[in-house]
Amino acid sequence: MSDFPTKARVVIIGGGVIGASSLYHLAKKGWTDCVLLEKNELTAGSTWHAAGNVPTFSTSWSIMNMQRYSTELYARLGEEVDYPMNYHQTGSIRLAHTKERMQEFERACSMGRYQGIEMEIWTPEQAKEHYPFLETHDLEGVLWDPSDGDIDPAQVTQALAKGARDMGAKIIRFCPATGVTQKEDKTWIVHTEKGDIACDYVVNAAGYYAQRVGEYFKPYGGRTVPMMVMSHQYLLTEQIDEIEAHVKESGKKLPLIRDVDVSYYLRQEKNGYNLGPYEPNCRGHWMSEDDQMPDDFSFQLWQDDLDRIEDIVTDAMERVPLMATSGVSSVFNGP
Ligand SMILES: Cc1cc2nc3c(=O)[nH]c(=O)nc-3n(C[C@H](O)[C@H](O)[C@H](O)COP(=O)(O)OP(=O)(O)OC[C@H]3O[C@@H](n4cnc5c(N)ncnc54)[C@H](O)[C@@H]3O)c2cc1C
Repeated sequence: MSDFPTKARVVIIGGGVIGASSLYHLAKKGWTDCVLLEKNELTAGSTWHAAGNVPTFSTSWSIMNMQRYSTELYARLGEEVDYPMNYHQTGSIRLAHTKERMQEFERACSMGRYQGIEMEIWTPEQAKEHYPFLETHDLEGVLWDPSDGDIDPAQVTQALAKGARDMGAKIIRFCPATGVTQKEDKTWIVHTEKGDIACDYVVNAAGYYAQRVGEYFKPYGGRTVPMMVMSHQYLLTEQIDEIEAHVKESGKKLPLIRDVDVSYYLRQEKNGYNLGPYEPNCRGHWMSEDDQMPDDFSFQLWQDDLDRIEDIVTDAMERVPLMATSGVSSVFNGP
């Protein structure tokens, strides 16, 4: 392969949203002589099936700041790199069941406002005005975050990749990194089946393979990447006429609902719902000798397991009874 690069300032291993974002941001800062290696197609890991929620809320200043930056980037990226994408800033309503949760919201709200995010604390009645399908009788109040939204995860990855390529960075798909060696002068050599690339830095953006890629660095003082693979599910409902009518009348999508105490988000997807639980008894995968991580899991999912999330689904249907009027159209259960 004659145009295969043999030298780069940085080699990024992994072409999910994190790898593509790293390449884009390095190029933006002038480091255009960087290469991204993806063993399959861009987004093949966790990125292709992500629900695409883009929150800004956090109780950590720096995480909120980083997420705020993302919302600003996503709002301009499509035009900047000439790659139109679906990004909806719908706002979100975060539910408080207790006074303690309200205190947390008040603190986050002050922090958010200081960072320029116009968060507000609303009464349950105000929440109902903005979200007529919401049951609010047992709530203390809610946090309104106008900057919350959702994006198509594959589109944002492709947009970042296009932006990086346009600035001169290289992306090589279907080219797994197979190992690294470090020379005496500290130069890294990243090995692939297509050839070796010498570079100053290597970025491990291999998603759920990051621990495996981390092993390449062990002989040079690298440590075990502390991680494990969890299964995460979300379900999509069929279309709901009332949502379609609401969108027609109001001219906008419903805000996302987040209930951190019960532990789920519920957002409008087309004219139905996307319900994503964060399971208290989440299932780990690929943790034992007889359940080893496959060499390739590109664009794959696990069998859904709705029994595990039944209690959360029931709670969400009581919170938004409209959701209970439709059936489940599909389930995503991915790493
Ligand atoms: C069901 C579900 C819903 C989710 N919803 C959301 C959401 O709403 N909002 C949100 O922010 N996050 C969400 N996430 C999390 C999100 O998907 C991940 O955090 C994100 O996609 C991780 O991106 P990544 O680039 O780190 O990893 P990945 O997308 O997994 O990318 C890693 C890439 O590295 C490649 N790779 C691995 N090894 C090598 C190698 N040796 N050489 C070359 N390439 C290699 C893989 O093929 C892969 O493409 C969700 C996750 C799941 C499972």
